Amino acid sequence: MNNRTLLQTLLLLVGGVVLLGGLVCVVSGFAGFASSDPGSDGDSSMMLFAAGGFAAVIGFGLIAFTRAAILTRNGAYARVTIEQATAPRGGRFCSSCGTATSPTARFCESCGAAVG
Ligand SMILES: [Zn+2]
Repeated sequence: MNNRTLLQTLLLLVGGVVLLGGLVCVVSGFAGFASSDPGSDGDSSMMLFAAGGFAAVIGFGLIAFTRAAILTRNGAYARVTIEQATAPRGGRFCSSCGTATSPTARFCESCGAAVG
């Protein structure tokens, strides 16, 4: 089931590109640093290596954060907890989106899924 929003898909894409680009920079920076003559362009390769490592961490963080947001279904889990604590007795909850429904409702008011 695909619960991703456009923003989350975009964040995953950006995170993947940044992570891959960072890894490429790390590898090429390290290769340049290792193969460079002392005093030639060792500094710029070192910078590329460091910047690539930084970008890779950022990219990985973006992906991990976005995946966590998707797994909690855009905060639906927190919403269910709050509504279960405040809903009147006898009320039910949509098993699809977590919205509180009236005891007689057959379909969720929020997402239209069958209730009960
Ligand atoms: Zn629902």
